[in-house]
Amino acid sequence: MSREIAEHLRYFAEIGVDGVSKDVKWRQRPFDSNDSASGVILAQDNDDSLDLIRSDIGQDCRRCKLCTMGRSQIVFGVGNPKARLMFVGEAPGEEEDKRGEPFVGRAGQLLTKIIEAIGLTREQVYIANVIKCRPPGNRNPEADEVEQCEPYLFRQIDVIKPRVIVPLGKFAAQSLLKTMDPITRLRGRQFDYRGAALIPTFHPAYLLRNPSAKREVWEDMKKVRAILQSEA
Ligand code: URA
Repeated sequence: MSREIAEHLRYFAEIGVDGVSKDVKWRQRPFDSNDSASGVILAQDNDDSLDLIRSDIGQDCRRCKLCTMGRSQIVFGVGNPKARLMFVGEAPGEEEDKRGEPFVGRAGQLLTKIIEAIGLTREQVYIANVIKCRPPGNRNPEADEVEQCEPYLFRQIDVIKPRVIVPLGKFAAQSLLKTMDPITRLRGRQFDYRGAALIPTFHPAYLLRNPSAKREVWEDMKKVRAILQSEA
């Protein structure tokens, strides 16, 4: 067995997966909406696009105070523009700010494993944050920053039209759902959100501190996988 496969299986075991499917049909199922079994290309019902959103934000956005607080670049989002699954985090951290890509630090590496645990790759999903600039010292985003930035996330969601959205952690779940309910009350539930099923789960950074919560995340991810598979 190659080292890579062994590592994968170790991670599966760690997060509570007790087996993997050998079914070739399941493994080769299509995942992109425009790749779906029907082969139908879904037309966007408006003229917005990720490129337009990116250019509306601009390379040196000055709509909120984060532009003066040491951010080095805007971290727009990454992945398949037609992804059926979209993850939404809180805000870029240090590594993300350096590289211009969300979830590339330690928490991001864990997110990649979580994505792979349901048979997908980072390239097949879309990953974005509620706010696009790094808050100083990784503090929580503030209300005025969210207010300025979240419309761009909403536009990204409306262009991508994912089937499932997974907010990662309390901040993303509360921001999207406009609630102050704690993540412990939000996770384990499914919400209808802008045409998608929204399934909140714990933030991978929380999992790094509390590895036992990986089991609950795995429960959430199995629900995500079931929805995607049922409509593949
Ligand atoms: N945490 C987040 O919420 N987003 C990132 O992009 C990285 C870490």
